[in-house]
Amino acid sequence: MSVKGSTALVRLAGNPDCEILGAMVLQEGSEKRFYERVVGVPYDREFGERQSSKRRGAQFERNAYAGDARLLREAFGPILGIDPDYLTVRNLLDDYPGSKDDARIARLRITRGILGDALAGRPAPDIIVQPQLLLPTRPGPKPYFFIAPDLMVRSPGTSIYLPGDLKSFIVRENEVAASDLARVRLQLGAQLLALRHEYDRLDPSIVVPPSGILLFSKPNGLAPHAPRIEDIAGAIEAVRIGVAAFLRHREKVNGLRAGAEPYTVVADLQPHFKDACLSSCVMAQWCRQRVAGLPADMGDVAGNVLTGMTMDRLIDLMAGVAAPGDAHEEVVASHLRSLAGQHSVGRAA
Ligand code: SF4
Repeated sequence: MSVKGSTALVRLAGNPDCEILGAMVLQEGSEKRFYERVVGVPYDREFGERQSSKRRGAQFERNAYAGDARLLREAFGPILGIDPDYLTVRNLLDDYPGSKDDARIARLRITRGILGDALAGRPAPDIIVQPQLLLPTRPGPKPYFFIAPDLMVRSPGTSIYLPGDLKSFIVRENEVAASDLARVRLQLGAQLLALRHEYDRLDPSIVVPPSGILLFSKPNGLAPHAPRIEDIAGAIEAVRIGVAAFLRHREKVNGLRAGAEPYTVVADLQPHFKDACLSSCVMAQWCRQRVAGLPADMGDVAGNVLTGMTMDRLIDLMAGVAAPGDAHEEVVASHLRSLAGQHSVGRAA
């Protein structure tokens, strides 16, 4: 699968300084293919979501949408204050299934119609399943990101919809690991920015609150927990930074490639290797080699604190064979010598 839509924006939000991600988003084809073209050898590691997780996610969605989305209606009835039997649902996959661009554009057209109907007081569903949104980045190649929340739910008080996602990780008591929550909040952030874009087209005075909905799976039976309404103001800001980073990287890639394919200019782009790369990016091993001998290879904290220094320089400072060149190196050298003393590392001079 290529890096597209909210996945790409979540990656860029988490690592806006990585220019290679910009090329990866612009390149046609899968992430693995990108690796193979850049590195010149087949990708031979496991990558991407496990098959068992995919199956679990698909089953959770099937359960949630079955029977006119009975489980969704039962989950949302109490927080909307409406009897689940009276909640109305429209599943856009029933109209235009699939993930091809034609189907997405058809679902986008319906989604826009529903948003307009709700604002105008015409009949509109309480829950839209598989709506389609987009976030424009024109002019330029890749002029928009398709963004697809799993659902949007209409607030009874305002007729404004909020985006939401179904998450099938196993959670107990609706509590989620911080790292998982941060990632899914970023996904909601991308969805909310795209939704704001749609409302802005209809009426620029509309204010969509910075909230999104998460629906986690119960450990047994794949039924949903009660919906969680998340404050995603911080995530929205992070995704904005990710979009701005994409625009910057796109300009640089386009300037360098002169009409050639984006992967051809990767050697002239700057990676920004972080701990999270190892579990999230197909290029991780290749980028890690590019920081070999630099503090970033020891982790995010070392990379941030020791920016601009090399491992050889640090060893020389610790051993006392090099004199600190500035106040920052003075502090670093002092800490390193103290650590060396605690751990009985001998001084060379
Ligand atoms: S592994 Fe490389 S390309 Fe991927 S996000 Fe990290 S620095 Fe960027």
